Amino acid sequence: MESKIWLSSPHMGGNEQSYVNNAFDTNWIAPLGPHVDGFENEIQNYLKEDSLVAALSSGTAALHLALILLNVKQGDEVICQSKTFSASANPIVYQGATPVFIDSEEDTWNMSPEVLETAIQDRIKKGKKPKAIIAVHLYGMPYKATEIHSIANSYHIPVIEDSAEALGSTYKNIKCGTFGDIAILSFNGNKIITTSGGGALVTKNKAIREKAIFLATQARDNAVEYLHSSIGYNYRLSNVLAGIGRGQMEVLEDRVYARRQNYDTYKATLSAIEEITFLDEPKDFYSNRWLSCILTPSETIREGLRLKLLENNIESRPLWKPMHQQPVFKSCPSYLNGVSDDLFKKGLCLPSGSNLTESELDRVITAIKTYFRA
Ligand SMILES: *Cc1c(COP(=O)(O)O)cnc(C)c1O
Repeated sequence: MESKIWLSSPHMGGNEQSYVNNAFDTNWIAPLGPHVDGFENEIQNYLKEDSLVAALSSGTAALHLALILLNVKQGDEVICQSKTFSASANPIVYQGATPVFIDSEEDTWNMSPEVLETAIQDRIKKGKKPKAIIAVHLYGMPYKATEIHSIANSYHIPVIEDSAEALGSTYKNIKCGTFGDIAILSFNGNKIITTSGGGALVTKNKAIREKAIFLATQARDNAVEYLHSSIGYNYRLSNVLAGIGRGQMEVLEDRVYARRQNYDTYKATLSAIEEITFLDEPKDFYSNRWLSCILTPSETIREGLRLKLLENNIESRPLWKPMHQQPVFKSCPSYLNGVSDDLFKKGLCLPSGSNLTESELDRVITAIKTYFRA
């Protein structure tokens, strides 16, 4: 059996281990320290647009804190893109609030501005004005930030920008992770850069960043004794893991380049196959191509292809199953147009790691061509 080809595996740059060794040498084995500060500064310098960063234990923790900071409480409703990973929606429920799911548009696969506006108007008519909107840059493709944010602004609803998959992407030349009232990043093992597990909250507001760190470190009031007047969390990033992140920030641009190359190679070699289509970047959109995805004509063909790849020891994965189809969210309101259901049936994520070799890419391409007899 040939070696396994993974969907998206960690890819160290080379300097991570020396940062980690430094953490050991200086005994900063704690969820604070020089690497945490350094990592935050390096992300801020990368994102610019006056971004302030709080490094956290996961993207999910960042989303949870974002909802708390926007005062989302028991009984509230929060709008969320339906086509996403469950981590976008779960923290809404941690707060005792209800997700309201919004379908996608065909040209970005992200939240449809039209459906969003219909949903906001309908929720307001029902006496339930949404407390926040969670919009997602899926697979690295930016959502239509201008449209989504202008709708949100006109109803005075804050936007949480889920940029977990989109570090390195831009929209109108502005980096993803800088659009939201609060944005979040993820450094999980499969993301474009990783700390093994980790995340960040991004804001332009100094008080919000400070409050995020306060909540992430058990909400200790400013007193010598351990004094608490609110509920806290243990969500700060470890200084050891932040060391990995500092090494990864050094190679982020290379990682974006390599993932975009994967996509270009798939497109160049597979677009002659009539049954396969790709999601091109609309004008002003620049995707980090975190995952390269294709659409096939049907669920049967998509599943056949997935099994064919598996037979060759190649991992692939259907596009995210929309949240409105998930058993755990079946009682939540949703506003649908059929797009995300259709994408789920037809779409497949191909191996996309920045560490894929040419011969591994060849194996994937050959297996796909064989399946389609191309
Ligand atoms: C990975 C991911 C998250 C969660 O990040 P973790 O660091 O794994 O908690 C949230 N949203 C999306 C869209 C993701 O892909």
